[in-house]
Amino acid sequence: MNGRLALQLFFGPLAAGGLAWLGVDRGKTWPLIAAGVFLVVYVALVLRRPLRRRRALAKPFPEAWRTVLERNVVFYTELDAAGRAHFEKNVQLMVADLDFEAVGDVALDDELLVLSVAGAAVIFHHLGIEPKVRRTILLYPDNFDDEYDSSKHADILGMVHRQGPIVFSRRALKNGWNRKTDASNVCIHEWAHVLDLDDGFADGVPVLVDDEAKWDEILAEELERVRRGRSALRQYAGTNRAELFACAAEAFFEKPEPLKKKHAELYGLLVEAFRYDPLAD
Ligand SMILES: [Zn+2]
Repeated sequence: MNGRLALQLFFGPLAAGGLAWLGVDRGKTWPLIAAGVFLVVYVALVLRRPLRRRRALAKPFPEAWRTVLERNVVFYTELDAAGRAHFEKNVQLMVADLDFEAVGDVALDDELLVLSVAGAAVIFHHLGIEPKVRRTILLYPDNFDDEYDSSKHADILGMVHRQGPIVFSRRALKNGWNRKTDASNVCIHEWAHVLDLDDGFADGVPVLVDDEAKWDEILAEELERVRRGRSALRQYAGTNRAELFACAAEAFFEKPEPLKKKHAELYGLLVEAFRYDPLAD
C-alpha cells in the first residue's frame, strides 16, 4: 500500500468516526446513518483504482495486445522474456489507470488502446518507477487544429494538457508506430511531455535527473542549434525547451545513431533521463 492510499484510508474513517461520535453524543440517529453512508462511498472511491489495477494484473496479458506490440513497437520486440513481461505489466496497469474517450468515428479497439500507452511503457521501462498517470486519453480521428477541428490544414498530431487529457490523432498515432525509424512518434513525444511535467514544470528537464544545471546549459545550446538550422532534430524542437526534450526523445528511441553522432551531450542527458542506452552493446 502506498503512503497516499494509507493516508486516505486513515482520514476518511476518522471523519466518519467523528460524525458518528457526534450522533452518539447528541442522541441523534441521522449523523450515524450519514457516517455509515459516507464511509461506504468514501472507501469505494478510494479503493476503486487500486482494485482496478489489481484486477487488471490478475488477468493474463491479452494475446491481441501482444500482437499489436509485436507488429508496432520495436523497443518491445528487442526485449528478453523478463523485459517483455515487465513492459506488458506496465501496459496493463496504464490501460487500467487511464480513462479513454473516442471522438467522432473512432472505435476504441485493442490496437488503439495499446498504441496509446505504448509510448509510456517505452519511456518508463527502465526508470524503476511505476507509471501512475491519472489522465484521460482522447482519441480524435485525424489531425486537428486549435479548435479541435479536423480541417484540411489541421496539423496538430497530439497534445498534453498540464493537468488534463492527452489528445491523439488516430492517424498520427498509427503512423508514429508504423514508421519505425523516422524519429517521429507522437506517442513517445506526448508521453515525454508527461514525464517532463511530472515535477509540475514543462521545462524540458524530466524527473529523476541529477544535475539540473548541466541540463539547463545543454538544452540552451541545443535550442540555439535548432533555431540556427544546424541540428539533426526537426525545426519544431526549436519551439522551446519542452518541445526540444520531447522531439529528442522521439529521435532517441527511433533513430539514435545520428543523435549520438551529432548531439553527444544531449544524447548523454537522455541516457541519464531514461536510464537506458539504445546503442549500448
Ligand atoms: Zn510537444
